Amino acid sequence: MQKHLDRLRQNGKTIGFAPTMGALHEGHLSLIRQATGETDCTVCSIFVNPAQFNDPDDLKKYPRTPGKDIGLLNNAACDLLFMPPVEEVYPPGLELPPPLDFGFLDQPMEGAHRPGHFAGMAKVVRRLLDIVQPDRLYLGQKDFQQYAIVQDMLRQLQSSIRLVRCPIVREADGLAMSSRNVRLTGEGRALAPSIFKALRQAKEKTGKLPPRQIEQEALEQLTLQPGMVPEYFEIVEGDSLQPVESWEGVSYAVACVAVKVGEIRLIDNHILIER
Ligand code: AMP
Repeated sequence: MQKHLDRLRQNGKTIGFAPTMGALHEGHLSLIRQATGETDCTVCSIFVNPAQFNDPDDLKKYPRTPGKDIGLLNNAACDLLFMPPVEEVYPPGLELPPPLDFGFLDQPMEGAHRPGHFAGMAKVVRRLLDIVQPDRLYLGQKDFQQYAIVQDMLRQLQSSIRLVRCPIVREADGLAMSSRNVRLTGEGRALAPSIFKALRQAKEKTGKLPPRQIEQEALEQLTLQPGMVPEYFEIVEGDSLQPVESWEGVSYAVACVAVKVGEIRLIDNHILIER
């Protein structure tokens, strides 16, 4: 694949890259379509990265549907699928660069609830970027903290890769599409749209109530739903991920939420103030 991409680059073709863990849905395909519209060759990777799972059971149960994924990628006009085995991504003896320091970015929210997750994510994204060397990298807003960390990674590496943030694709009832949604029970699936409802209400209150109060009210609202246990609901500045204490002077704010719905952990977010 590297040889193939080298040839394309020599012919002046641009490469767009969307890394995924497979079990593809419309959210992933929106990244592929955007890449296809903006670059000459779209590469999708499917790699369930063991390094970013802090829970071995979650890794084992992560949905894997390679046959279906290939059909979806063909329909979306994806040019190349990179689906390497673990030994190809991390061959024995391969020396990886020392991990980057993301300062505060990997500390709150997912960082606090999934120890080691972002170190594993950063490790694989850096390795995949090294292999694919794209001109543009397509990430979903769905994983907002991941996006902010990769943005910082590219800044630290002084990379010329253009990072593109793709909007969250939702089901008709507002639930953000996720590979994990198929693991929800019928009851859980019926409850899950209340996550986006809480985010939408937070947006309506933005600028009217203090951020802390909005967070509290959202947490209370989510806790009232039997079968749902919110882990956090935080309003943060979009680049630094520092908590927003007051609306004064804030030009970029995002509400981020993680909720356990039965056994399944779902995350979502909503941009409250877009710069
Ligand atoms: P994953 O396979 O969950 O690692 O996701 C791969 C990429 O697809 C990441 O950049 C995600 O943010 C993005 N993605 C996942 N779900 C959605 C969605 N519902 N809308 C937009 N992008 C998404």
